[in-house]
Amino acid sequence: MMLHIPTLLMVAVFVFCLMGLLTVHAWSRGREPTLGYLGSMLLLAALGTGLLVVRGVGMDYVALVIGNLVLLLSAAMNWTAMRAFVHRKPNLPGMFAGCGVWLLMCLVPQFYGSLSARVTLYSLLAATYGVLSALELWRKRDTLDVAYTPALVLTLWHTGFYVIRAFTDPGLPIKNAQLSGGEGVPIFSFMLFESMLYAIGIAYVTLAMVKERAELRFKAAAFSDALTGIGNRRAFMLKGEKLLADSTRRQQNVALLLCDLDHFKRLNDSFGHPMGDQALIAFAQVTQAILCKGDVFARIGGEEFACLLAESDDAAAFDVAERIRRAFAQLDLLAPGFLSVSIGIVTTSQGGHDLSHLLSLADQALYLAKAQGRNRVQVVETA
Ligand code: GH3
Ligand code: MG
Ligand code: MG
Repeated sequence: MMLHIPTLLMVAVFVFCLMGLLTVHAWSRGREPTLGYLGSMLLLAALGTGLLVVRGVGMDYVALVIGNLVLLLSAAMNWTAMRAFVHRKPNLPGMFAGCGVWLLMCLVPQFYGSLSARVTLYSLLAATYGVLSALELWRKRDTLDVAYTPALVLTLWHTGFYVIRAFTDPGLPIKNAQLSGGEGVPIFSFMLFESMLYAIGIAYVTLAMVKERAELRFKAAAFSDALTGIGNRRAFMLKGEKLLADSTRRQQNVALLLCDLDHFKRLNDSFGHPMGDQALIAFAQVTQAILCKGDVFARIGGEEFACLLAESDDAAAFDVAERIRRAFAQLDLLAPGFLSVSIGIVTTSQGGHDLSHLLSLADQALYLAKAQGRNRVQVVETA
């Protein structure tokens, strides 16, 4: 099949332009920097490819110097987009280094006059930016909680292509480009195809990564308590039911501790709401430090907290509750006597494995603790 290079170039310009505009539009909705840099990359690719078209019409330097310069800046934007995605600042010297090398080399007549030297240097510079882009994702792979593999594979494929091209492509003489035949045409047309596929692919997968990360953030916010940073009631019910289901399967005992801070209204009235907030945060920290990794802990109401202790028998649960009660009462946030907590306990051996039922039994125990004077731990009394 004979490919008409000028047509292919024009299609590439339109594809880059469309993908660039769509990506900039996506950026404008949430101002996510990654999409801003990616949109710039695609629009620069459209401009750079457009400038290549003027080769052979008496202004070769526009295509050879400025066109390639813009394309190298586009590759640098791709790298910057990946840096932004892993929360790194743009590296300005690095971004312009490729352009600088290209400009300097273009001042050397032997280089400027050699098509194969230009192709080799351009390909190596583009490949360097590709390696840098892939490295950004690879270095942060352990902390990236989104599917980054498609972006990594695409970038490596694109980079690999430029490495091969650096050593195999003799370049496309201008007359061949215009006639669409002869030496260099297959490689050049493949390069254009590859670039278009890469542009579409990287825009799509990066948008997917950005959206996935936003979803994870919203999900985390929906399951956490904004004041204390621990789980909220929704998280407690979800994780608690999972813990109970697992413990039923393994035939393990689980204990539920229901904690309610004492006279909290009085504390707010006496010292102000901000101090009340500090007390809530302090209680969450003190309790978290006492609990184990597999336990489920959450703020399930205003000054109510719940803990599900994995693999815990009655005595161990009582011991943990006592430690929480004492640690909170000993805090020096306020004068002694102002900070105290009452805790109701129930275990699965007493109340079964239904979370709602366990909560209502623990509430009965908590009621008893309050009735008996507060600042105490009370185990539920079952018949
Ligand atoms: P008891 O010992 O019987 O539990 O008495 P209490 O005052 O702790 O109980 P009550 O249910 O009467 O009052 C709970 C108070 O907790 C009322 C509410 O203003 C306060 N509260 C709930 N959420 C917050 C919060 O986020 N910050 C602050 N500072 N106070 C809160
Ligand atoms: Mg309460
Ligand atoms: Mg209370």
